[in-house]
Amino acid sequence: MAQISIIGAGYVGLVYGVAFADLGNDVYGIDIDAAKVEMLKAGQCPIYEPQLPELLERNLQSGRLKFTTDYAEAVPNSEFIFICVDTPSTAIGEADMRAVRSAAEMLAPHLRDGAVVINKSTMPIGSGDLVSSIIAEHIPDGRKFSVISNPEFLREGNAVADVFKPDRIVLGTDNDADAVARLKELYAPLDAPVLVTDRRSAEMVKYASNSFLATKISFINEIAQICERVGADVTVVAEGMGYDPRIGPLFLQAGVGYGGSCFPKDVKALAHMAHEADCHPQLLHAVMEINADQRRRLVKRLQEQTGDLHAKDIAIWGLSFKENTDDMRESPSLDIIGMMLARGANVRAYDPAAGERAKRELPRVDIVSNPYEAADGADALCVITPWNEFKQANMGRVAEIMRNPILLDGRNLYKPAEMRELGFTYVGVGR
Ligand code: NAD
Repeated sequence: MAQISIIGAGYVGLVYGVAFADLGNDVYGIDIDAAKVEMLKAGQCPIYEPQLPELLERNLQSGRLKFTTDYAEAVPNSEFIFICVDTPSTAIGEADMRAVRSAAEMLAPHLRDGAVVINKSTMPIGSGDLVSSIIAEHIPDGRKFSVISNPEFLREGNAVADVFKPDRIVLGTDNDADAVARLKELYAPLDAPVLVTDRRSAEMVKYASNSFLATKISFINEIAQICERVGADVTVVAEGMGYDPRIGPLFLQAGVGYGGSCFPKDVKALAHMAHEADCHPQLLHAVMEINADQRRRLVKRLQEQTGDLHAKDIAIWGLSFKENTDDMRESPSLDIIGMMLARGANVRAYDPAAGERAKRELPRVDIVSNPYEAADGADALCVITPWNEFKQANMGRVAEIMRNPILLDGRNLYKPAEMRELGFTYVGVGR
């Protein structure tokens, strides 16, 4: 049993908090958001993530999981302190490290001798050194500490399963074998391959991984554009490519492009770091441009079908950046709906989980509580997020209740011939 503090109770920190508690450790979750901490203490889960509410409840009841806003209450008792705060993009595309700096400053005075601080947030290359130097400045004299870089690869919507069964655990250290051994022991129940390397390489593994996945998405989206022009179907092309083990089938779904709190900011931050290091990251720029194009293309194709969007009623299915999450950060839906509103359209939208969040983020959009209500009387329906609920919706009924049955399938969820038979004018991506 270890004593652990997790700083930042968001998508990463909260899932880790409950997971480590579930494995039998004593965990303190620390967050500066007092309202969030109160919710968590009361057993209310602030985010939509499968299995998380049950785990939260169970571990609060066991007394192994506590939440606080007070570093002084949690950190002095902890052997491991995980930094899981947000690192969003600044206006120039670099990672905003204000939350990390402030967490390091706040934790340092309370660190006990020999504590291990773990950088789990996605942080630019060199952040291990930065966090070390901030702590060294603020820690009481004579106490030793270690900083390990341990980037995170969980996927929202599957976070609990990913945390209990990671593909790999990457630990970056600058010659602190003892801290690495202790951390390996903490992770031992997860039974995952562990890569131990230097801190900078560990930090780079995260940026390179996310940028590669984003590249696969932009690659297939570029192929989709070509498929449309030459009369091929990108879904079949991707399937044919995916059988090749050197390529693999994952992340080859053409659509409205990637979004979320990670890929957009991480590709941008890596490009920024590359520029700072005097490199010319041409591929990363192309990946970002293609991604932005995919969102514009959906609106362009919609206009080709409906004509002027002014006063048209457009239905949207799916607002979260992907299925099984309520996270709307950098969701393609935000840009796409923004373009529709700017052209004078009326937008009515439904999402299985992000509805409440969307009421705050998109005050000009009518958020409704089921997919049919969104489609009722609409001039076109755009499917943005591939939630299961949409895959087997009663599309015959949808075609009947729409004013104009135009279907923009932004995720290629449906069979074009079937949709046409039901009376839709069907527009997919790259087919
Ligand atoms: P989030 O915004 O959901 O959560 C961050 C939390 O940190 C918030 O609750 C915020 O109130 C809290 N916080 C900010 N400053 C603080 C401080 N000084 N002290 C205590 N709490 C503080 O963020 P997230 O999605 O969990 O991401 C966290 C990090 O993990 C980011 O660097 C992200 O890139 C990385 N990451 C995220 C994912 C993901 O799927 N969300 C996956 C892998 C890695």
